[in-house]
Amino acid sequence: MNTTPALASTDEPPSGTTAPTLRLILGDQLDPLHPWLTQVRPDVVYMLMELRQETDYVVHHAQKVLAIFAAMRAFARQLKAGGHRVRYVAIDDPSNRQRLIANLQALVQHYRAAAVEYQLPDEWRLDAELRAWAASAPVPVRACDSAHFYTPRDGVARVLAGHRRWVMEHFYRHQRRRHGVLMDGTAPVGGQWNYDADNRQPWHGEPPAPPDPRPRHDHRALWQTIVAAGVRTIGDSQADDFRWPIDRREALAQLDAFITHALPHFGRFQDALSAQHERLFHSQLSFALNVKMLYPHEVVARAETAWRAGHAPLAAVEGFIRQILGWREYVRGVYWAHMPGYTEHNALGHSTPLPRWYWTGQTHMACLRAAIGQTLRTAYAHHIQRLMVTGNFALLAGCDPAEVHRWYLGVYIDAFEWVEAPNTLGMSQWADGGLMATKPYVSSAAYLQRMGDYCADCTYDPKQRTGARACPFNALYWDFVARHRERLAAHRRMALMVRQLDRLDAAQQRALLDHAAALRTRLDTL
Ligand SMILES: Cc1cc2nc3c(=O)[nH]c(=O)nc-3n(C[C@H](O)[C@H](O)[C@H](O)COP(=O)(O)OP(=O)(O)OC[C@H]3O[C@@H](n4cnc5c(N)ncnc54)[C@H](O)[C@@H]3O)c2cc1C
Ligand code: SF4
Repeated sequence: MNTTPALASTDEPPSGTTAPTLRLILGDQLDPLHPWLTQVRPDVVYMLMELRQETDYVVHHAQKVLAIFAAMRAFARQLKAGGHRVRYVAIDDPSNRQRLIANLQALVQHYRAAAVEYQLPDEWRLDAELRAWAASAPVPVRACDSAHFYTPRDGVARVLAGHRRWVMEHFYRHQRRRHGVLMDGTAPVGGQWNYDADNRQPWHGEPPAPPDPRPRHDHRALWQTIVAAGVRTIGDSQADDFRWPIDRREALAQLDAFITHALPHFGRFQDALSAQHERLFHSQLSFALNVKMLYPHEVVARAETAWRAGHAPLAAVEGFIRQILGWREYVRGVYWAHMPGYTEHNALGHSTPLPRWYWTGQTHMACLRAAIGQTLRTAYAHHIQRLMVTGNFALLAGCDPAEVHRWYLGVYIDAFEWVEAPNTLGMSQWADGGLMATKPYVSSAAYLQRMGDYCADCTYDPKQRTGARACPFNALYWDFVARHRERLAAHRRMALMVRQLDRLDAAQQRALLDHAAALRTRLDTL
C-alpha cells in the first residue's frame, strides 16, 4: 500500500488556470536568465525537487549536498519573488516520493497538468530516465535546451568528425575561430594559439595568493534537515561557515574578484602545487558554472576584456579561456559521444581497491595528505592536485577506475558526471584507452617536487627509489611503465618512458619492481 501523502500545493500562489504546464528545473539548472523565465506565466508551475535519488547515487561531500540544496532554495525564492508559480519539494516533505519520476507522476495528477517540460539534463542517467518516462507519460512531455553551453551535446563529435584521434587542441582552435575569442581576424592574437609553455612555474610565495573572495553563509538549519532526512555524506559540512555562492549575484561577485586579483597570475602558476596555499590563483568558479549561475560565455568575455584593457597578460588569459572554451566543452562532447558505457571503461585492466586513506586523508605521504585533507575539508582541490597528486597515485597504484570515478564524483563541489567522468576515467586514469587524452598523466616524485613544496615535510624522500624512506611515487611509476610496457612503447608520446626504463640495468629494474610489488601489498599503510 502506498502511504505517501498526496502532493499538497502549499507554496504556490492560487491561480484560475486548471491545467498548467509543469516545468522541471533540476538542481544544476539554476539559471535565472534562461529563456523560460523571461515571461511570468500564470499557466506555468516551476518544479524543483530535493531527492534521495540524487543524494544517494554516490556518497557526496556534505558541502556539495548543502550547496546544491541551498542554491535550489534561493532560486525558488527568487522565482516566487518574481511572480512565478513554484512547487518546491523539500527533502523532508512528507509527500516527497524521493524519486524524480514518482514525484513527476504525482505532480501531474495533483495539478491535472496539461504538459510537462524539462531542460535537457547534462547527465545521461537523468536524460535516459526522462526520455523513457516521456514515451509513456499521461501528458505530452517536451524537452528544450538548457541554453548554457557554447556547443550542443554532439558539437565536438561534429567538429572532430573524420579525425582518427580526438585532440582537444583541434576543437579549441575551432572554438576560438567560431566564437571570435582572442582572435585578430583569422589569426590568434599574439600569433600563437597556446601559451602553455609559459604556464609551468612553481610558486614560492610571490606574488602573494589573493584572499578568498567567496561569501560566508550559515547553513546550520538546512544541515540539520539533511542529517535528519538520513542523507549519508562525507567530508566537513562547515554548515556554520559555508563558502560557496548560492545565487548568481554571489557568483558574479566571485568572478569580479577573480578577474581583478587572480587572473593576472593564473597562467604562470596554473600547474603549481603548494602546501602554503590551497587555491593559489585558480578561480573556484566551477560550481557556479556547473549549476549554471554563470554562463561560460560571460566568464570568457570578462577574461578577454581584462587582457584587452591591459589588466592581465595574454598567456594568463589564454590559459584560463582554454579551460572553459576548450576543455569544459570538449569533455562534455566526449561524454555524450560515448555514453552509455563510458563509465565502465577499464582499458588498463586495473582492479586494486582505492587505499582507505582516500576517505580520511591519513597517509604519511605529505602531498596526498594535503590534497585529500583539503578535499574533505573544503570539497575543492585545484586541477593539478586532482590530476597529478590523487589521480596520478591512483593510476600508478593500479586502482579500479570505477572506484576512482565514484570517489571524484562524490568528493568535489563541482562534480557532475558529464564533466567528472571524462576527466577522471579519460584524462586522469586513461581507462578509456586514449579517447579523451593523448597520454596518461603519470609522474614520479621528481615532477611533484619541482612543482610543489610538499616534499620538504614528508616522511618519504623524493630522491630515493627503493628502501623504507623512498617516495612511493618512484617505484610505482617504473612499475606502471613496466606493467604497461607494450601499450606505452607503441605510443609516440610515451615510448620515451619505456626507453628510460630500459636504460636502467637489470638489477636496478628488479629492485624497483620488487619494491613496487611490496608497496602494492600495503597501500593502506603508506
Ligand atoms: C580527476 C579529475 C576530476 C575532475 N572532476 C571535475 C568535476 O567533477 N567537475 C568539474 O567541473 N571539473 C572537474 N575537473 C576539472 C578541473 O580540475 C576543475 O574544473 C577545476 O579544478 C575547478 O576549479 P576552478 O574553478 O578553480 O578551476 P580553474 O582552474 O580556475 O579553471 C577555470 C574553469 O575552467 C573549467 N575547467 C578547467 N579545467 C577543466 C577540465 N579539465 N574539464 C572541464 N572544465 C575545466 C572549470 O569550469 C573551471 O571552473 C576534474 C579534473 C580531474 C583531473
Ligand atoms: S616525497 Fe613523495 S610522497 Fe612525499 S610529498 Fe614528495 S612526492 Fe609526495
